[in-house]
This record gives sequence, structure tokens and C-alpha cells, in this order.
Amino acid sequence: MTPELFKKIDIATLQELDDNRELRASGEIHLHHGLIKQTNQEQCVVHLHPTYIVAAMQTLELSQLVTDYPEISRYTRVADNVGMVPPISEELAEQCLLKLAEDKDIVGIKAHGAVSRGYTLYDAYEHTERLEHICKIVLVGRTV
Ligand SMILES: [Zn+2]
Repeated sequence: MTPELFKKIDIATLQELDDNRELRASGEIHLHHGLIKQTNQEQCVVHLHPTYIVAAMQTLELSQLVTDYPEISRYTRVADNVGMVPPISEELAEQCLLKLAEDKDIVGIKAHGAVSRGYTLYDAYEHTERLEHICKIVLVGRTV
């Protein structure tokens, strides 16, 4: 990722700070803003729609699924799933903030995606990558 791929936003006012009109702020800006305010402004928030995480949440509680896999439970604290909430809504932001408030690194949103946070963009992304990897193992393992 390169700097021109990021949209700069003033965290206090949520106003755009750059002239790049081709990039727009995420529709989940209130979620990102809430998480940054909740912890501290030095943290990064990543919101993605990972295939295996979303698939696993159809039947599994992510926080329970990871207890058997020290590869993830040692480095990534997984919150209880957020249920069905409308995308780009205050409810989605509130539920994610509530679940992550318990000192968690990542939360899954049913039928939608996941939100992770870390001190660097890579740290936040790595939490999602780890959970996606374990979800893939679990789902593939159920088919053999
Ligand atoms: Zn989304």
C-alpha cells in the first residue's frame, strides 16, 4: 500500500484533509472514528470483508473457534461476534465498539466482514489475516 491509497481525515471534525477527490472516506467512518476515540489516536483500524471469516460466522462463534488454535489465540484477541446489523449504520458502529471495548483486537460482523485494530496498519491487518487463515482451516477441515 502506498500513501496515495489513503484518504486523510481530520479525526476531530471528520473533514477531508486532502484534495484527492477520487478517494472517498469509508461509509463506516463513524466506526473507524469511534474506535480511534475509544482507544487512542495512535491506533489503526482495518475493516475488510474476508471470505472465510464471513463464511465461518454463519454457524460459528469466532471467539470460541480460536481457542483451539494457539497460532491465533496467542497473538490476537478475538471478540464475540456482532450479529446481523445494517452496514454503514450507527448500530454497526455501536456493536463493534462494545465488543472491542473488552481489550480485543478483532471482531467479526455476521454476513458482512471484520474490524481489527493495531498500533500499525500492518498489525491491524495481521489480526485479520490470522483469523482468516484459521477460519479457512476449520471450514476446509469440515469438508474432508
Ligand atoms: Zn463493510
